[in-house]
Amino acid sequence: MQNDTIAAIATPPGEGGISVIRLSGPEAEQILRKVFRRAGKPGEWESHRMYYGWVMDGEEKLDEGMGVMMRAPRSYTREDVAEIQIHGGAWGPRKAVEICLRNGARLAEAGEFTRRAFLNGRIDLSRAEAVMSVIAARGEQEHRAAEREMNGGVTAFVRGAADELYAIQAGVAACVDYPEEISDEEGAAEMIPRLEKLIESLKAGVSERSARLIRDGLRVALIGRPNVGKSSLLNALLGEERAIVTAIPGTTRDLVEGEMMIEGTRVHLTDTAGVREAEDPVERMGVERSRRAMADADVTLMVLDDSEEMTDEDRKLMDSLREPAALVVNKTDLGRKLVLPESNAFEVIEVSAKRPESVRAIKEYLAGLARVTDRTVMTQPRQLDALGRAISHLEDALETARNLTPDMTATDLQAAQAALGEITGDQVDEKLLDEVFSRFCVGK
Ligand code: GDP
Repeated sequence: MQNDTIAAIATPPGEGGISVIRLSGPEAEQILRKVFRRAGKPGEWESHRMYYGWVMDGEEKLDEGMGVMMRAPRSYTREDVAEIQIHGGAWGPRKAVEICLRNGARLAEAGEFTRRAFLNGRIDLSRAEAVMSVIAARGEQEHRAAEREMNGGVTAFVRGAADELYAIQAGVAACVDYPEEISDEEGAAEMIPRLEKLIESLKAGVSERSARLIRDGLRVALIGRPNVGKSSLLNALLGEERAIVTAIPGTTRDLVEGEMMIEGTRVHLTDTAGVREAEDPVERMGVERSRRAMADADVTLMVLDDSEEMTDEDRKLMDSLREPAALVVNKTDLGRKLVLPESNAFEVIEVSAKRPESVRAIKEYLAGLARVTDRTVMTQPRQLDALGRAISHLEDALETARNLTPDMTATDLQAAQAALGEITGDQVDEKLLDEVFSRFCVGK
């Protein structure tokens, strides 16, 4: 437990119906009693019960509101927590915090309530981070993934893996301590398949693709030669005049971007300048940027003009396309001249930007790619980084176990365990000892 009491406004700044001032620490109740005067007779503050009253600035009423006391350990931080609700606004809540500070509280630092929840053992690191993700979520998928993390999805996944790793480490320790009883060959034969399975489950359990989808959304590049209707389609998809549409080829020089939500996932669309071999240096820069946009995108939509025959440029572009990608045949309202090569294996979507309802087919195609199905998803770069390191240490250990001896894997296994421990913020050493001793109790 920390020994001071922190205070802060818990709601966003600015005008609003209500603002919440939160206190946490041993003096929370004492400060609440000084700062908040209950209506009616003074009395006990029952835990988890709201009382009506006034925030007092000395003998003067600052504002009316509600006060609640949540006694440890049944609170967000596991400390005594008091919350006061008053009217939201630029000045009142700040004044209320100032009064709390005058009565013994300290202004909380960023994330300090959640940090206390972690330090007091109420949540682990990945859950603490998930709290931040829930707050920052911009879409339904992102929010749901963060919820799952907050409810311990990542924790359970990582702890399960860590437990299996302790068991493998215990096996190695046995090999080292009892060389006459367990040969290197036996040790290796036991650990190799377990290591392989562990690596596989860590890789399968966490999809980087899903994590990226949730965190960054689906990035879509619209490519095609000038004037086929990329900007018009972007506008039709976004439902607003986002790109400037012109009838002069090559005038959409800059990337024009926009974002929309498809089934809870953010979809980021980039309309590129016409991808073509250009002489003009300005045009060439546009081409360069388009190529980059294509390389950066999760999916490419190549737009073709249905009212014109295919050009060499179209063919060249098609050759450079890679899955996932689709051909969007636009201007189907003008009569067909376009003939797609028979060898084409990309999905073909026929639309007309002049009939905005026809672009629904594009949204359906993108929805298929934007869906996130994995149950365990780490979205925090810190966690993904630690997990990546754990996997690579385990792969090194596997290599060593195959070619050298089990005891030589100890350092890599330890490093992997430490990396997993970073995700949840666990201390590892004692648990490892426990595991080792529990294995040796049996018969030895
Ligand atoms: P971009 O250069 O590929 O971005 O093409 P634009 O979106 O600027 O469109 C070029 C021209 O084609 C504009 O005059 C559009 O109004 C027109 N256009 C775009 N899509 C369609 C369509 O589906 N049908 C018809 N008839 N015209 C279209």
